[in-house]
Amino acid sequence: MSRTVEIVEVGPRDGLQSEPGVFPTEDKIRLIEQLIDAGLRRLEITSFVNPKKVPQMADAEAVLAGLRKRQDVHYIGLVLNRKGFERAVAAGCNEVGMAVVSSDTFNRRNQGVGTDESIAAWLDIARAAREAGVRAQVTVATAFGCPFEGEISVARVLEVAERVAEGEPHEISFADTVGVGVPWQVSEIIEGARQRLPGVRLRAHFHNTRNTGLANAYAAVQAGVNALDCSVGGIGGCPFAPAATGNIPTEDLVYMLGRAGVETGVDLPALLAVSEWLQQKLGRTLPAMLLKAGNFPPAQLAA
Ligand code: MG
Repeated sequence: MSRTVEIVEVGPRDGLQSEPGVFPTEDKIRLIEQLIDAGLRRLEITSFVNPKKVPQMADAEAVLAGLRKRQDVHYIGLVLNRKGFERAVAAGCNEVGMAVVSSDTFNRRNQGVGTDESIAAWLDIARAAREAGVRAQVTVATAFGCPFEGEISVARVLEVAERVAEGEPHEISFADTVGVGVPWQVSEIIEGARQRLPGVRLRAHFHNTRNTGLANAYAAVQAGVNALDCSVGGIGGCPFAPAATGNIPTEDLVYMLGRAGVETGVDLPALLAVSEWLQQKLGRTLPAMLLKAGNFPPAQLAA
């Protein structure tokens, strides 16, 4: 098992995108700066998509402009097409993430085109990113099931992964977009990807819709992923999947990995303070269990 897992904080994008209200730009900036202070070094900041479809991300450029940029941090912009890529680079993102959905139906509903067209768009973005010196990675979405098509075969998921790998991504992520996956599926997909795509960095993205998120994260680490997505407080969902709940909570994941001696670089007490701040700002109880139960061992014993 890997003793280091890279944590990608997706709360500012995947999390806040599903909030009913629009989170103020200055609070987004404050949230991101605090997360960086707590040790997070890769963060999905925003998405560069149609602001009419996703009004919560309409301030993408303003958020990037408001951040004090650090050389050791990757500021990720989610893009779904070439236009979004150009916007992300112009705004100052030093990493872009593109999503290709293994379910053609979901890809059409989410991105307005079929999976094949999104794969072609990704390969085009990958070329442009190399020329621009911007890191680019790609997610295979609905890898564990689709609300419209049901089960997606492992063969289909790995076929899409092999096709996007032609763009030589920094990393390929497998996303449980709506939160239906179980750990055995995770092992099968991650182990399959390691065999079919030797040397390619792998990441996984889980939602806790059916309470299997942390179990899936454990299976992914056991199977050898390099990185995991998560959101502070466990905020989030998916606007195209009504019942989807948040990503796996960053603090719960860092706690689980930390107790096993897996290095993440995140300062857990500092992260919990950010989470408490966010809970106050959002005015509701957040899903993360560590916010309720506290760290262990407690600070006075740990010292
Ligand atoms: Mg998601």
